[in-house]
Amino acid sequence: MNVKTVGVVGAGQMGGGIALVAALNKFNVIVCDKSVEQQHKCEADHKKRLAREVEKQRIPAADAEAASKRIRYVHVMDFIKDSDFVVEAAVENLQVKKDIFASLVKMVREDVILATNTSSISITEIAAATELVRKGSAARVIGMHFFNPVPVMKLVEVIKGLQTAEGTTATTLELAKLLGKTPIPANDRPGFVSNRVLMPLINEAFYAWMEGVAEPAHLDEIMKLGCNFPMGPLRLADFIGLDTCEHIMNVLADGLNNDRYRACPLLKQLVAAGRLGDKSGRGVFDYSQTK
Ligand code: NAD
Repeated sequence: MNVKTVGVVGAGQMGGGIALVAALNKFNVIVCDKSVEQQHKCEADHKKRLAREVEKQRIPAADAEAASKRIRYVHVMDFIKDSDFVVEAAVENLQVKKDIFASLVKMVREDVILATNTSSISITEIAAATELVRKGSAARVIGMHFFNPVPVMKLVEVIKGLQTAEGTTATTLELAKLLGKTPIPANDRPGFVSNRVLMPLINEAFYAWMEGVAEPAHLDEIMKLGCNFPMGPLRLADFIGLDTCEHIMNVLADGLNNDRYRACPLLKQLVAAGRLGDKSGRGVFDYSQTK
């Protein structure tokens, strides 16, 4: 595999995590967010996280410093052109992803794989946006679905689109392993495996809360103790991001053509109010004192 530099588009919770893991595994990284503020926040988060890893003696100080030096933080997409492999981790919105992929295919070399960290959107549809720009490009588009928090979670769901080439899959599996992850294949259906099963459960927890079955803390505690979950579904929704949960439910409802997957009105209301979870300081629960 000839990948030395990994480009990451989107420096939010997932893009930031992917960039850090790649740098810690000795890849050069170019991480781009269209928001300058987010670009700076990502850099500050990395510094904090690396310092904590050193303090807890999980990595030597020299490794942390080397990882830090391998990452370039940018807010203009053009810099991504120097990448050997790109992972897109921008917001969960088909049009945003199509626009990003159409730009990427114009700027990177023809052998560069374009992976998306989408949680639910069709890889085949995202790939179609590249075909419009350069015929044959869909062969190098693939789903590479990391889990949150990326430095901790081992799984990467690898999803082939209809036109993804075998070589693209092989290189993606190899890269995932070099990042210390366990790649497992899933098919290109809405939500793949993880979110097809998880998101309706989270959505149902919002319905249960909305209907007064239990207050959020009790609901989560019941699911933790009763089902042996490491965290309750409402806490997990905050961790994922309530906006991302709503986007995924929309993809499931539209893609599976079934209204039972529609986002719970209470989930939509919290998103409309800007209560997005950990990333905004408040979602179902309040994190303003813990930040
Ligand atoms: P986030 O909101 O934390 O970050 C998204 C970032 O993308 C933002 O910083 C935004 O400024 C940036 N962005 C938007 N448009 C852009 C563009 N055109 N160019 C560059 N940057 C752009 O979201 P997240 O939780 O990191 O999720 C990102 C992707 O990863 C989504 O597709 C999501 O479904 C997927 N994902 C999320 C989780 C999770 O638990 N949050 C888990 C797995 C996969």
